[in-house]
Amino acid sequence: YQAKRGGRLWLGYTPELDQGLRSRLEALQRLRGALKKKQIQPYFQPIVELRSGVRWGLEALARWVGEGLPPDLFIPLAEEAGLVHQIDRLVLCQALRLTASREERLTLNLSPRSLLDENLLRWLERVLGQWGFPAHRLWLEVTESVLMDNPVQVRARLGALKEMGLNIALDDFGSGYSSLSYLSELPIDLIKIDRRFTAGIGKSQRSEAILRSVVALAQNLGLLCLAEGVERPEQRAWLQEVGCALGQGYLFGPPQALE
Ligand code: C2E
Ligand code: MG
Ligand code: MG
Ligand code: MG
Repeated sequence: YQAKRGGRLWLGYTPELDQGLRSRLEALQRLRGALKKKQIQPYFQPIVELRSGVRWGLEALARWVGEGLPPDLFIPLAEEAGLVHQIDRLVLCQALRLTASREERLTLNLSPRSLLDENLLRWLERVLGQWGFPAHRLWLEVTESVLMDNPVQVRARLGALKEMGLNIALDDFGSGYSSLSYLSELPIDLIKIDRRFTAGIGKSQRSEAILRSVVALAQNLGLLCLAEGVERPEQRAWLQEVGCALGQGYLFGPPQALE
């Protein structure tokens, strides 16, 4: 580990550090194996229209079946190791195959690396065609960090995806360095508000004020708006009242295998 003290850089070593590194390498080795054996699979979580309670669509979320790690551990690990691209493709391919025959919207998470991959468009066209999945039913979720780091490339890429007929969602809105300029400049169709704000309903006036403002902003820009992490009926009622169109969370159902 590193520490700066009195203008000097100190490098330290502890046995635990070595242990941590070893288990990381081990996890990475196992993740490679899991990818080969297709043990990374999509689970699906319902997205619901708050007013009617009708299902609007499904989000596909990667799961490591068997003795695997949870996604909030293996996705960052895969991102660091340059493997997340393979996860995205595997999840996307399987999710398209599983849901092609349903008349349902599907949303999918794309890591920054996958979004900027130069073969993305060609590959998407091929797999959409392979499963007969209409582009307009697919929504790609991107996060704010990728917009900030590569604004020019991202704008061109999102534009090209829109031209193919796909839809774009901004995931975890408010969790990073949100900028209003993304919303005015980029071809975004759906804002997914981070679940930390939903968690503050009834508890934090600030969270409620932010939620109200983002919902109004989305309405004024003609964008769809979704609240993540809806767990309790009071949260749903509150969101419905302020005019949020869509919700997702344990109240409506956890991510689970399609059947
Ligand atoms: P996300 O895209 O924001 O997905 C929503 C996360 O919130 C999921 O976590 C879901 O299980 C969780 N969640 C849903 N409803 C509730 C709720 O009511 N309360 C709480 N506390 N949590 C809820 P999960 O499945 O652990 O995934 C974590 C993150 O990993 C995802 O966050 C997404 O950013 C990433 N991820 C998952 N699958 C993929 C994938 O195939 N590719 C990429 N690049 N990232 C993925
Ligand atoms: Mg998501
Ligand atoms: Mg996400
Ligand atoms: Mg999210």
